[in-house]
Amino acid sequence: IYGEQRRNSRGVNLNVRSHYQPLMEAMAEHMEREHSVKPLLAFEVPADPARCQEVLCPFDRRQRVGRVQWTSADEAARAVDAAWAAFPRWQATPVVERAAIIRRLGDLMETHMAELMTLCSREGGKLLTDGVDEIREAVDFCRYYAMKAEELFGEATALPGPTGESNRLMLAGKGVFAAISPWNFPVAIFCGQVVAAAVAGNTVLAKPAEQTSIVAHRVIELLHEAGMPREVVQLLPGDGPTVGSVLTGDPRITGVVFTGGTDTAQVINRALAGREGAALPTLVAETGGMNAMIVDSTALPEQVVADVIQSAFQSAGQRCSALRVLYLQEDVADRVIEILKGAMDELRVGDPRDLGTDVGPVIDEDARAGLTAHIETLKAEGRLVAETRLETHETAHGTFVAPVAFEIDGIEALEREQFGPILHIVRYKSSEIDRVIDSINDRGYGLTFGVHSRNESFADEIAQKIRVGNVYVNRNIIGAVVGVQPFGGLGLSGTGPKAGGPHYLLRFATEKTVTVNT
Ligand code: GLU
Repeated sequence: IYGEQRRNSRGVNLNVRSHYQPLMEAMAEHMEREHSVKPLLAFEVPADPARCQEVLCPFDRRQRVGRVQWTSADEAARAVDAAWAAFPRWQATPVVERAAIIRRLGDLMETHMAELMTLCSREGGKLLTDGVDEIREAVDFCRYYAMKAEELFGEATALPGPTGESNRLMLAGKGVFAAISPWNFPVAIFCGQVVAAAVAGNTVLAKPAEQTSIVAHRVIELLHEAGMPREVVQLLPGDGPTVGSVLTGDPRITGVVFTGGTDTAQVINRALAGREGAALPTLVAETGGMNAMIVDSTALPEQVVADVIQSAFQSAGQRCSALRVLYLQEDVADRVIEILKGAMDELRVGDPRDLGTDVGPVIDEDARAGLTAHIETLKAEGRLVAETRLETHETAHGTFVAPVAFEIDGIEALEREQFGPILHIVRYKSSEIDRVIDSINDRGYGLTFGVHSRNESFADEIAQKIRVGNVYVNRNIIGAVVGVQPFGGLGLSGTGPKAGGPHYLLRFATEKTVTVNT
């Protein structure tokens, strides 16, 4: 899919000792280090201990990963000045030069894989397997967007016209983009947003999630090392009310690329719309999901369970793509639930650095409290189906939530997305299938969806009717691959652009038609 230029990011087989041993040793070197980071802006930022926030490790809250100095509102405003001033020059930089910087970042991240994985684990609580996938996805984003930028932003496209007239169409960056990124993919999504906006010719102000600013800082250091001018991509660690508000309130911000909760996307949208006299902005948003899977009576229960476990509980369910509602046709429901119980019994929750761990921690106390409240409510209603054991000696000091499954009446019973390892199960009769599809569509989200069936026409029909961005048939519903499964949803799940897809960069570009009377 990447054609001649394709060089896939290097994989690591964690089942082979000679592969994982060197990686573990390299990671061990970075495990103890305590970091101290500041905003990376076009100008020097003085140290200010009063603005420093501690970052604690999700699997052991006694461990401090480091301190992050948050950006002040004044620094954020000056960063916008610098980004605005840098835009014309960056936009005029030949796309091959922009792409070369981005490719170098991909190479550097590959070289620094162990260090970045260590930070993903210590700051984000990521399992080793998830860490490998994370860095590979970031590297793939770099190479894919670099290649697409050269295709799209290189030569102008000649268009037909009458005799005596020449027409051409060309693409250019839009201006200044704010990239507001989530903690659940602190390297991949962070990097994908920044790189897409920058390679398309925009200057970028990146605000990483508060929980994972240290790894984001390292990525931007590597980007600067790769040759990116400091004023073209700046890093503004901080919180939404301070940094986010300055960015979304400034009339010079041409666009925002955001991944996170639907509520926050709505706040951003309102802030952008409320700017007096500002040019109409672009919002590229990938938000929440209430992702469902429909399993009919022809499905293979063992395969269903393997895919459900992965979809609902991998990354502790902290993926926008994760499965939240499993619809089981009544004839297979008992069998699937029985196997699911057995599989959930086998899951091990614990230290993400241990290769035997299946489910790591959730990100922090707030996340755990929200999930626990939902679990308690459904338990009190007597809806528990299965639960994984939490070994307290392994998990006592971290923010862990054990995988759990409940039966509910339908997707409409869920008020909001539960961003963690909680699966909801609904039984349905074959005669109710249209109602099931309508209720999933009517819920308003539209990110991922799965169908398990050996009846091809049933699967096709459902895939056709369901309104989501990514449909998966007879497999798990997570882990979209760059250039293979372009990722992004609609409705409450986002504004539609597909990250890792051939049209993504167009959202960051203006198109100019030049007509010359010859
Ligand atoms: N692209 C990821 C996946 O397919 C999910 C991204 C997200 O959680 O925002 O699993």
